[in-house]
Amino acid sequence: MLQNFKAKLTLFGLLLVASFSLAAQDALNCPNWVPKTFKAVYSEKAGLLGNGGGSWWDPDYKTPITCEQVGTVGTVLQEVNKLVDGKLGVPKTPYLNLIDEDGNAYLAGNIINVPMKIIFDGYGKHPIYTHAVWAHEYGHAIFGHNMKYALKDWAEMDRNMKSYIEFMMKYTLRATRLQKYAYELDQLKKAHSDDLERINYLAKQIDQIQEQINAMEKESEKFNDLNFHDDLNTFSGGYNELFADTVAVMHAGGKGDIIADSLFRTGLWEDKNYKSMIKNRDFTNRENRIERWKVVTEEHDNFAPTRYHLYKYYIDNPIYRRYKGYVVYKLFISIKLEFEKYLPALNKIDMEDPDTIVYLNKSLMKRIDEEFAKDKKYFSQK
Ligand SMILES: [Zn+2]
Repeated sequence: MLQNFKAKLTLFGLLLVASFSLAAQDALNCPNWVPKTFKAVYSEKAGLLGNGGGSWWDPDYKTPITCEQVGTVGTVLQEVNKLVDGKLGVPKTPYLNLIDEDGNAYLAGNIINVPMKIIFDGYGKHPIYTHAVWAHEYGHAIFGHNMKYALKDWAEMDRNMKSYIEFMMKYTLRATRLQKYAYELDQLKKAHSDDLERINYLAKQIDQIQEQINAMEKESEKFNDLNFHDDLNTFSGGYNELFADTVAVMHAGGKGDIIADSLFRTGLWEDKNYKSMIKNRDFTNRENRIERWKVVTEEHDNFAPTRYHLYKYYIDNPIYRRYKGYVVYKLFISIKLEFEKYLPALNKIDMEDPDTIVYLNKSLMKRIDEEFAKDKKYFSQK
């Protein structure tokens, strides 16, 4: 569940991981799906070209996605909108890229890339467990959307990242098509084909695309001058994951182990490394309380003690049971205040340092308590 592309990836190194396309013209029109939660849906799937170059994105491979499936995902998005409504803003037009099956889900720019069914290492799980994954990814979108208005640096990071991703998607699509055509042409020539029409077509297309790519490579220099706020991106990763997990938990009615459960049911529990990850995503696991917790600096795991704290005192607290959106909102405000506090010193913060992670957990837990305490009087009258 990648949060987004890291700006530190080298520009064209992205080619192999950008497994999606910008084929907005393939938008699926689902007239019965009103109101729309998203602007466009397109359904494509990575395909192997068998050119020996690994798995390239195939711009021509389509997987049919039905409006019914769109409705299933869209409903989850709408439910999340309803949950946070009035307290946090929601992205007006998130793009949803739906594919049949995949081992990953992530947010890239404003495109939420989610599979209908998530599969890790050959283990599939019942699609119902994908709901938490959709809510989680959409949680990232909500986090980014609101942080954009809360922090100037975030807005700049967001803007630059989006333009970079959009550019890279276009580039990837073209480069992949070029590979594909070149491969086909090569095969035709090897087979001494007499299909001159196709051969000429391919040769012409290859020239044209190559020209576009050359121009794009020159154009890409503009990204050298953009500030991607790498340190903010690195610093915020764990907070972003904590927030997205909380959205998924609240969407599931406060079920604190929903993400852990979703991961568990893929078969990941057999892997020692994933075992710790499943535990760290579990809001209900007492092993995550700060006094006991074995520090993990990875961004999905590094706020496990805060997950436990948030669950114990707020999510699982009868006082807040009816106010799930409020809990999400309070968490967002707490994170925002932490960002404002630590932003001026980001260059001194090492997110790989275990002591730093413990310190930041304690700081965030204290902040959360302070934020909730502000409305104590209101809730005590309930
Ligand atoms: Zn995530």
